[in-house]
Amino acid sequence: MSSDYLNREQDQQLRRWETWNRNYFIFAFFTLIVVLVFSSQLGLSSGESWGPLGIIIAALVAPIVVLQMRLRCPVCGHRIGWQAKLLAPDQCRHCKVFLRSKE
Ligand SMILES: [Zn+2]
Repeated sequence: MSSDYLNREQDQQLRRWETWNRNYFIFAFFTLIVVLVFSSQLGLSSGESWGPLGIIIAALVAPIVVLQMRLRCPVCGHRIGWQAKLLAPDQCRHCKVFLRSKE
């Protein structure tokens, strides 16, 4: 084991993921609200037909799942996305590396 912290490059990689993840989450959240608020005006939920609305919600949520799955520990390659919420976890459960640079 060389280091218990990430190097600068690995740290930047992780911070980039966090930025993407957070920005997309905010985007999806507001889009979802807009869609839900205006769904009847847009003709998306007329009566019992939730089909089009369901597709839009699924399309908004799917990239969140993909983003979570794509996050791997930069040191050991272990998938850590499911440990993450909006931000990357503090430590990799698999190799115990701290997921930030030392400084
Ligand atoms: Zn790891």
